[in-house]
Amino acid sequence: MKILISRKIDIREVEKNIKKIIPNINLTLNKETIEVSGFKKGVIYDYIPRIKAIPGVKKIDLEINEIMPLISEKNFHFNKPFKTKEKFIIAGPCVINDFNEFRETLIELINLGIKTVRTPLFKPRTSPYTWEGFGLKGVKNLREIKNEFDFISVMEILDVRVIEKVFDVCDIIQIGARNMRNYILLKETAKTKRPILLKRHPHSSLREFLFSAEYLAKYGATKIILCERGDSFSDGDSSLNIDILKRIKEDFKIPIIVDLSHAAKNTRRIFYFAKKIKQIPHGFMVEVSKNPSSSPTDTNQILNIEGLKKLLEIIK
Ligand code: PEP
Ligand code: MN
Repeated sequence: MKILISRKIDIREVEKNIKKIIPNINLTLNKETIEVSGFKKGVIYDYIPRIKAIPGVKKIDLEINEIMPLISEKNFHFNKPFKTKEKFIIAGPCVINDFNEFRETLIELINLGIKTVRTPLFKPRTSPYTWEGFGLKGVKNLREIKNEFDFISVMEILDVRVIEKVFDVCDIIQIGARNMRNYILLKETAKTKRPILLKRHPHSSLREFLFSAEYLAKYGATKIILCERGDSFSDGDSSLNIDILKRIKEDFKIPIIVDLSHAAKNTRRIFYFAKKIKQIPHGFMVEVSKNPSSSPTDTNQILNIEGLKKLLEIIK
């Protein structure tokens, strides 16, 4: 960590003030900077607001590994229940709205070689008047299907109180974009040790996104997948933050995927985005159903099976 000091202030005064705030620290004084070392990574962030407020402190430069030691240094790829280093696709309905239809969709997905399947029972909705999925009432049906077929289920969890109740039907816990900053949910899901798929909240910065992942890592998650899903919810424009996507792919050892459906908002743009960025992510998420028009949610952005085949051709 490096602190830039104003020339008008006696650097020794600043040194004294820093020592009052952080005990047992090594400070090296240069002409206009103070180099700080010997601190505990991560915890140093707790002192920053007070250091910033010291008269004469102009700027503080922190390396990413000094504030997020786990996410910046550890490897979060995994081989079980599937290999994140081999291009993978998570496909399935926006919400399970009919178990027979879901079953038929699942058979098609399995026939196409897709092993990781969206199984949403809980939907966070913008309007409180709209359907929120089968919820816990759907667990029994999903369990029956899970016992019948061999696939990895990916399910969004909104509420810490349901974790135990869905544990056998949820192989990968999805933290939705709205909950990226729900730190209680991040901690509790991380403690389960299940793989966690964390979606970026629209307009959140790379730093905020990574801090949420750092929460997961600090509370026990060793298998993490990050997901870029664009900068707007249902009514906004379609978008994708390619810069964040590239930076995570290049600078971190964490699998990152793109959710084509929620980024694109309509099936036509799913193909456009897929062509544009297909080389970058480790994998993709896409909404697929045998009968998209029956979905009460996100109807325009759900591919049918033909559409999925076309997408698989593009990204193979
Ligand atoms: C979803 O993937 O089901 C979803 C609700 O997406 P997001 O959290 O990205 O809005
Ligand atoms: Mn959806």
